[in-house]
Amino acid sequence: MTSSTTRSLQSERLFGTLEKRHCEFCDNGTLERDIYKGNNALVCSNCGVPTVQVWEE
Ligand SMILES: [Zn+2]
Repeated sequence: MTSSTTRSLQSERLFGTLEKRHCEFCDNGTLERDIYKGNNALVCSNCGVPTVQVWEE
């Protein structure tokens, strides 16, 4: 197992925890997995604000 694999698993766990939560910037949005500026991110389905970004090296 490499360090990058470990980092990806931690990212998966983080995303799994935060996915589908209510957006904190608007009333009606939920957080969906998406790509933001080339990084994995959780982006609000309503207002489009990226809440979590994960940079893979
Ligand atoms: Zn929102």
